[in-house]
Amino acid sequence: MSRTLALSAAHAGAKLEPGVIERRALRDDDVLIDVAYAGICHSDIHQVREEWGTAIFPMVPGHEIAGVVSEVGAAVSGFKVGDRVGVGCMVDSCGECAFCKDGEEQYCTKGAVMTYNGTGYDGEETKGGYSQQLVVSERFALRIPDALGLDVAAPLLCAGITTYNPLKRWGAGPGKKVAVIGMGGLGHMAVQIANAMGAEVSVLSRTADKQQDGAKLGAQHYYATKDEDTLPKLKGTFDLIINTVSADLAMDDYVALLRPLGAMVNVGIPSSPYSVQPGSLVGGSRVLAGSNIGGIAQTQEMLDFCAEHGIASVIETISADEVNLAYDRVVSSDVRYRFVIDTATIPAQG
Ligand code: NAP
Ligand code: ZN
Repeated sequence: MSRTLALSAAHAGAKLEPGVIERRALRDDDVLIDVAYAGICHSDIHQVREEWGTAIFPMVPGHEIAGVVSEVGAAVSGFKVGDRVGVGCMVDSCGECAFCKDGEEQYCTKGAVMTYNGTGYDGEETKGGYSQQLVVSERFALRIPDALGLDVAAPLLCAGITTYNPLKRWGAGPGKKVAVIGMGGLGHMAVQIANAMGAEVSVLSRTADKQQDGAKLGAQHYYATKDEDTLPKLKGTFDLIINTVSADLAMDDYVALLRPLGAMVNVGIPSSPYSVQPGSLVGGSRVLAGSNIGGIAQTQEMLDFCAEHGIASVIETISADEVNLAYDRVVSSDVRYRFVIDTATIPAQG
C-alpha cells in the first residue's frame, strides 16, 4: 500500500478537494505510475454530478492519464522504470471472454473495470487519475510515443480513442464526407483524426467562434448551426456524422444531414433520451449508432497514428486549485479544447 495526493469529490455535486488516498501494493503484473497530467473529460463532470445515475463517492475522477513508470511488479515484461505511459478509461477486464480475446475489453462479458467510479474484481473501489500516483496492471498501460508530450497526449487516452474508433469502423477516409457535431474535447480530436484519415471534414458547431481553429485542425468546412439556414442547406450531405454533444440535440434535424445509407454515430452521452422520428431513419436506410471508447490494442494504434500524423490535443494546462472552475467552463463550452491538470500542483494540505 502507498499513499498519494489526489483530488476527490466527497458526494454527488461536491467540489473537488485535495486529500490523501491509498494505492494497492504492486501485484506481480502491476506498474506504479507517477502521474504527470490528467485531462478533464466531460464524462468526469457527468459522473461527479451524478448525471448518469448513482455513482461511487468519494470519487477521484480522471481517465486521461499520462505519466512515467516509477516501479514495476516482479512479472512485468512490457515496461520498465522511466517509460512514458498512459492509462485510459479501463484498468481491468476478465481477459478470457471472446471480446477480451479480440482486444475489445470495453465489452468484456464479466464487465470491464473502469478507472474510477468502478469496483475492481478484488472488491476495491477504483480511483482515477486526478492524483500523483496510480497502480495498474501492465495490460492496461499504453506506451506514449516520444513524439508526443505527456501533457498533450493525456487527452488522447479518452478523447482520442473515442473518436478514432468510430471514424475507423465507419470508414472515414478519402472520398468520404464526415461531419463532427460539437467542437469540444472529443470534437477537436475527431476533426484532426478524420482529416488525417483522408476524409473531407466539416465542423457543425453552434456558433462561428471556433471557425479559425476548425480550419487549423484540418476541417475543410465549418458551419454555425444556430444560423437558421445552416441545417436545411446541408440535408443529405454526409456519409458519416460523429455526434460529440453532451446535451440534448434535435436528432431529426441532424439525421436528415446524412446521405442515404449514411451513419450518425453518437459518442456524447447526455442524461436525457433521444427522440427520433422513425421515418427520419427508414426513408434513407440511415443508421443511428453509438460507440464506446475502444480496446487497449486500438488505443495503442491510435497513439502511434497521432504521433505519426503530428496530431495531439490542444490543451489549457491548469493547476489543482482551478479544477472546479474548469468544470463550469467545460459545461459552458469555454475551453480550447481540453483542460489538463498538472498533478504536481495538488497540495499536501487541503
Ligand atoms: P465537451 O468538451 O464539453 O464538448 C462537447 C461539445 O458539445 C461542446 O464543445 C459544444 O460544442 C457541444 N455542446 C455542448 N452543449 C451543447 C448544447 N446544449 N447543444 C449543442 N451542442 C452543445 O465534452 P467532451 O469531453 O468532448 O465529451 C462530449 C460527450 O461525450 C460527453 O457527453 C461525454 O460524457 C461523452 N463521452 C463519451 C465517450 C464514449 O466512449 N462514447 C467517451 C468520452 C466522452 P460547440 O461549442 O462547438 O457547439
Ligand atoms: Zn472521457
